[in-house]
Formats: sequence, C-alpha cells, structure tokens
Amino acid sequence: MIKKTPPSIIALDGPAASGKSTLGRTLADTLGYLFFDTGVMYRAVTWIALQHDLNLSDEAVITELAQKAQIDIQPPSKNDGRACDVIIGGKDVTWDMRNDEVDANVSVVSAYAGVRQALSEQQRRIGLRGRVVMVGRDIGTVVLPEADLKVYLDASAEERAKRRFDEIIARGDPADYEEILRKVIERDRIDSTRAVAPLRPADDAVIIDSDKMNAEQVVARVMELCK
Ligand code: C5P
Repeated sequence: MIKKTPPSIIALDGPAASGKSTLGRTLADTLGYLFFDTGVMYRAVTWIALQHDLNLSDEAVITELAQKAQIDIQPPSKNDGRACDVIIGGKDVTWDMRNDEVDANVSVVSAYAGVRQALSEQQRRIGLRGRVVMVGRDIGTVVLPEADLKVYLDASAEERAKRRFDEIIARGDPADYEEILRKVIERDRIDSTRAVAPLRPADDAVIIDSDKMNAEQVVARVMELCK
C-alpha cells in the first residue's frame, strides 16, 4: 500500500484577523512543520520606520529600510501566546509590533513593490525548504505558487472584528467593536486593492469560509485536505 505523505508546502492566505495564525500554528505543530507568519516581516519594517520617524509616504526610503532591516525571528522565549520572538536591534518587539500605530500603517508600507520584493524573496527561500506552513496574503499567488496545498481562510468583516474584540476583552484590555471593525475593513481595502500582490485567493486555493465554524472545525477541515 502506498503511504500518502502530507503536503510539504502549505500556503495559508486570507484577510486580517481571519484566524490564519491560529490555524497555521496548530497545523505546523500537528505536522511537525515550521510555522512562518510573514505578516511579522511587514510589521517589523513598519515598526522600525515609525521608531525612526521616517516618512512612510517616501517609497524609496521605506524600500531601502526593508532591504537593510535586520529582523531576527527566533523560537519563543516566553509562553505568553507568541509564536516566535521578533528581535530588532537586540530588543524584543514581538508584542509592540502589534500596536495600533503599526496596525494603522502596515498596509501602506506593504503596498510598496520594493518592500514586497525584498521581503518575499526571503520568504520564498525559507518556504522552498519545505515542511512549512506559511501564512500571509500572497503566499499562494506570489511567494510560493508551487505550494502543495493552498488554503484561503475567509470570514465576514463583522465576524473577524468580533473575534478580535473578544480576544482583547479576554486579555482584560478595553476594546471598541466599531473601531476594530472600521480598521479591519480599511486594512483589507488597502491590501486587496494594491497594485502588487493584492490579497486574493489563488485560482487553485481551497476557500474556507469560517463564519459558522469554530477553530477546531477549521483545523479538522484542513487536516482532511492534508490527507
Ligand atoms: O497578518 P498580519 O495582520 O500580521 O499582517 C499585517 C499586514 O502585513 C497586512 O495587513 C498586510 O498589509 C501585510 N502583509 C502582506 N503580505 C503578507 C503578509 C502580510 O502584505 N504576505
């Protein structure tokens, strides 16, 4: 009997807060694969630009930053929900990189062709080694079009905003649902209308609408696809 092996390169794309990271981490843990969240790289470049007060509208300056930035991604040093440590200039910026200011500016930075080229080349090099679950917006379409399995995880903006709202409240922080919804919609708008590598499902992606599914059901569905 021929033993089927699971797909070696798994591309997981979808809009903001669609649950890609949770799904990707669970899949990677189950399969013993590397989990690589490419959003971290775009966030890191944005974080550095904001720290240095760079003009985010200056494409040349931001592109040069993306080409030179030393972003170190290491195994998690703390058990606080992080998938990895993101270190920039010796500083642990794992959570700071997820602040509101980065959220509000990352889509502008990630729309620049030069930024995308610099970062997606690195992503592709890592992805081609295989045994990887790579998460982002353009993994199945641009970074790893040869992926063995492509999943596009979708959900309505309202559902995604609600999940993000619940997460923040569960951490004990204040949250405003309408504000979260507005930001999610705006980030998706910029990500899906940019000229280079816009957010969209690859032609051969399996689209999963998770509106009426919980996290376990989504994992079960994708594990089924892996068989
Ligand atoms: O996934 P996450 O929300 O952390 O991504 C932050 C931003 O990084 C996205 O809104 C998008 O602008 C950008 N991104 C991208 N391409 C990827 C991953 C993320 O443009 N592959």
